[in-house]
Amino acid sequence: MTMLYGGIEAGGTKFLCAVGTGPDDLRAEARIPTTTPDETIGQAIAFFQEHAESLAAIGIGSFGPLDPNPASSTYGHITTTPKPGWANTDLAGQIGRALDIPVRLDTDVNVAALGEHRWGAAQGLDTFIYLTVGTGIGGGGMVNGRLMHGLVHPEMGHVRIPHDPRSDPYPGSCPYHDDCLEGLASAPAIEKRWGHPPEALPADHPAWALEARYLALGVVNFICTLSPQRVIIGGGVMKRSGLIALVRQNVQQLLNDYVQAPAIREGIDNYITLPNLGQRAGLLGAIALAQQSIE
Ligand code: ZN
Repeated sequence: MTMLYGGIEAGGTKFLCAVGTGPDDLRAEARIPTTTPDETIGQAIAFFQEHAESLAAIGIGSFGPLDPNPASSTYGHITTTPKPGWANTDLAGQIGRALDIPVRLDTDVNVAALGEHRWGAAQGLDTFIYLTVGTGIGGGGMVNGRLMHGLVHPEMGHVRIPHDPRSDPYPGSCPYHDDCLEGLASAPAIEKRWGHPPEALPADHPAWALEARYLALGVVNFICTLSPQRVIIGGGVMKRSGLIALVRQNVQQLLNDYVQAPAIREGIDNYITLPNLGQRAGLLGAIALAQQSIE
């Protein structure tokens, strides 16, 4: 019998669950609404129990903040999330005990990065970043071939960037920092600033030039800090046609030829890219994380 792996993309509105071995081999999938931890985790466990006899391990990419350190007593817990009812939830432990198999958990962005590394836009790279721009902004990726961890995990969405209140009087939406990158450029920030959600704003709306500028300011900071070989940007806001091209232009302009790399000067279309796996990066990355935990 082929060994199968379970994957969970645990998001604030839904848990996507799958069983399989990769992009061309997903045997079953489920979409579970994120309600209470008991209900949602219980439904996920029930889904995987149907495949329990062939499951070798489960990988989870989760919203956070969370504890990704296997040596910690709270490893696999969602920790201080503002999402009601979910703070201090032992997500990995509950699933592992119920199914009696290894469960590995990491941030949603690190797990999506792993998916892109295994099957998508980051194959063969050892240092790259994966950003998501949607309900929130998050970033992860690899440095020297390892997923980024450290004290806890990166929080790239909460970097501070220049914000001129004369040209953009919107104060920002982050409950912790107001006008950090997420506070200025996430989907809720766009909606609160302009009175319409991103998908309702026309292509010639000034929202898009401002959005590209803010995202590029964040990306330039990450390029200068980590020297990534590629920058992958996914998430719902990036579905807007032409936005990634505007981000590329702004990044080149802001760097002003300082970082001497052909990838940035001539190859920017391949250097700053959308995910190859599209909206599947997180779920497939979770399968890759489960495989990696066995290998
Ligand atoms: Zn913030």
